[in-house]
Amino acid sequence: MDRYGVFGNPIGHSKSPLIHRLFAAQTGQALSYEALLAPLDDFAGFARAFFSEGKGGNVTVPFKEEAYRLADELSERARRAGAVNTLKKLDDGRLLGDNTDGAGLVRDLTVNAGLDLAGKRILLLGAGGAVRGVLAPILAHEPQALVIANRTVAKAEQLAHEFADLGPVAASGFDWLSEPVDLIINGTSASLAGELPPIEPGLIRPGHTVCYDMMYGKEPTAFNRWAAEHGAARCIDGLGMLVEQAAEAFCLWRGVRPDSAPVLAELRRQLG
Ligand code: NDP
Repeated sequence: MDRYGVFGNPIGHSKSPLIHRLFAAQTGQALSYEALLAPLDDFAGFARAFFSEGKGGNVTVPFKEEAYRLADELSERARRAGAVNTLKKLDDGRLLGDNTDGAGLVRDLTVNAGLDLAGKRILLLGAGGAVRGVLAPILAHEPQALVIANRTVAKAEQLAHEFADLGPVAASGFDWLSEPVDLIINGTSASLAGELPPIEPGLIRPGHTVCYDMMYGKEPTAFNRWAAEHGAARCIDGLGMLVEQAAEAFCLWRGVRPDSAPVLAELRRQLG
């Protein structure tokens, strides 16, 4: 049976084994998928040992940059992201590194939520690994403007500079923002601590602006609670992004796209 897994440290909390086992059952693919606790000081050695027989792997915190360095070949989106969340062993034994996070977010926004990103004013909060990974796939949908706002403004400026060839992208500090936008995506890790990026409610046009938090949980995130209080038309969490980036990886490995809707529904049910 073909062997797959997710590398991380810690890894016990990961929902990837459940998601991929559900995809495998649904598509009739014979494969195993396990959580792999990689040592912090030797990700490369651990991954190489796994790939002596393993066919593919997902990579999560804190190994995405190390996986980028480990890969023998990179997809264009992984090269742009500077990080790899999916590894696939090619027929000649070399490792292909891909990054499906951005495609997962965009699919959740466009297919699951039915949003059209073309011509929209989009505000992206944060300038860490997650934001870097989603910039190219969002810009491919030709928004009118994409502003990256971050606490450390220099990091937002660096990203805007690196991705300027792909579309209308600009950098900002949180306190320079004033005009309402069509879509706000929170890619900061502030919600993990129950905190909010310091942005003004005036960025939300009540009944119009859609708010998306890459984070998810049992309860609405701090950002989505704030957005709802200020009249956001819709508040969406990142569970769909998680399932869609997994579907994208499954498709790369097996050549079959699973139906993500029932899997997302099952995860929602299990979150309670
Ligand atoms: P990083 O550590 O790389 O980046 C964190 C970012 O958050 C930085 O821009 C940082 O700003 C900012 N930040 C942290 N705390 C605060 C705060 N209190 N106020 C304002 N800004 C803050 O994290 P990642 O990019 O890897 O992850 C970001 C989020 O995305 C996490 O919540 C993660 O769970 C989520 N995520 C979800 C995925 C999904 O599938 N749903 C996939 C990947 C990530 P500064 O630069 O100034 O430090």
